[in-house]
Amino acid sequence: MARTRQRKRMRIDRKARMQMPPVHAQVRPPQERVHDFGEIYIPYTAEDAQLEASRCLHCPNAPCQAACPLHNDIPRALGLIEAGKFVEAAQVYRETSPMPEICGRVCPQTLCEAACVLNKAGKPIDTRHLEAFAADAQRQAEGVPLPELAPASGKRVAVIGAGPAGLTVAESLTRAGHQVVVYDKCPDAGGLLKFGIPNFKLDKSLVDEKTRWLKQLGVSFRFGVTVGEDVTLAELREEYDAVFIGIGTSRVMLPHYEGDDLEGVYCATEFLTRGQFTCDRQPQDAAHFAPGPRVHVLGGGDTAIDCLRTAVRLPGVTEVTCYYRRSEAEMPAHRQDYQYALEEGATFQWLTNPVRFIGDEHGKLKAVEYQKMQLGEPDASGRRRPVPIPDSNFIVEAETVVLALGYRADWSFNEHSPDLRVTTKGLIEVDDPLSGRTNLPDVFAAGDAVYGANLVSPAIAAAREVAQVMDAFLKGTDGQ
Ligand code: SF4
Repeated sequence: MARTRQRKRMRIDRKARMQMPPVHAQVRPPQERVHDFGEIYIPYTAEDAQLEASRCLHCPNAPCQAACPLHNDIPRALGLIEAGKFVEAAQVYRETSPMPEICGRVCPQTLCEAACVLNKAGKPIDTRHLEAFAADAQRQAEGVPLPELAPASGKRVAVIGAGPAGLTVAESLTRAGHQVVVYDKCPDAGGLLKFGIPNFKLDKSLVDEKTRWLKQLGVSFRFGVTVGEDVTLAELREEYDAVFIGIGTSRVMLPHYEGDDLEGVYCATEFLTRGQFTCDRQPQDAAHFAPGPRVHVLGGGDTAIDCLRTAVRLPGVTEVTCYYRRSEAEMPAHRQDYQYALEEGATFQWLTNPVRFIGDEHGKLKAVEYQKMQLGEPDASGRRRPVPIPDSNFIVEAETVVLALGYRADWSFNEHSPDLRVTTKGLIEVDDPLSGRTNLPDVFAAGDAVYGANLVSPAIAAAREVAQVMDAFLKGTDGQ
């Protein structure tokens, strides 16, 4: 309602606005940014943010808002940024998003920005970076205010997984008056935000800040606890009134290759974590992680691109090459990140599949054997299937290989909770993605563990919905 009123009041000269040149957030030059793990975007100045926001046409149907998985009221927020009311704009984002400073950095161009009507003229509003700008302005000016909590319900909730979905549920249910304890096997909160997404896309201090804020709100954390090993799902169900599972898809898919146990062969998660933490957070570890100088990354998704861009930043690495079994056209990685990888010096070998890894007499990787592929008929994904070309094998020297071939759910605790139904893909079965109800009445799930690896904002959106269902369950108002 507020949004409708706001838009009705907004009298703007659409023609004049459509003529305005974009003032998009600037990116640091590649020759500078490859030497560090700092974020690549230069934050907006207040003046530039206001200029960019002042291009918004305040479309009554707001396709940007519809395309946002969280349905942030983008036009209303942009109107406030244009007026210099940055803290108020941040609060508009926070009405629907628990972490706009993070989504504004990690969401791809393909959501709100792609849906902006000005995209037809190739000049979409830089909605993502304006969201990050407003959220940062609030954080830096006065911090994110702690909301008032609902009266204590006396109910206790265990959240398994401190990634985006788990943190969203923890925040929502704490605000609703429940006592929430988050369990995670890692030493810190954030899940893929902390251990998957590289620092040059998302400064990890933002994740730490969010964790501190949640603690102030009243959320408890138990880190270094692996559910399934240190505590079982059955034990958590005994101790708590409800359990939320938001374990994501942290297991890397690792097809078996001859030689994949050689020193120098890494899975993507280990490479990303050690790469960025070596350089930015734990310099004492640098001596233990010396990849390269020739790094091959296998895969064509966003994780592969993140690995390439991590590799080009590591000391001692001189050549970084992606080997992908299909062609550039079928590569699933987002185009903007692909462009950044090219700018930063990564090269790509298309239609090439690994066959085996070759080691030296000390068990260290020294080369990779590949086979050339050609495109055949489309497969279930609609993309043309890569087919090996006979007698096309070749060997390339390399000291490091990174397997970035996709993620799947880490289902280790399922062995201890066979009652919980999972799909044939190992994902948690729920009756409806918006309810997150599993076959166990007090156990709910959302995020990548339910739908498979996806972006951050859809996981947050689903978790937000499931938290409401859990709140009703805990209060006994869900009619179940
Ligand atoms: Fe503004 Fe673009 Fe959204 Fe229209 S679609 S309201 S121009 S951001």
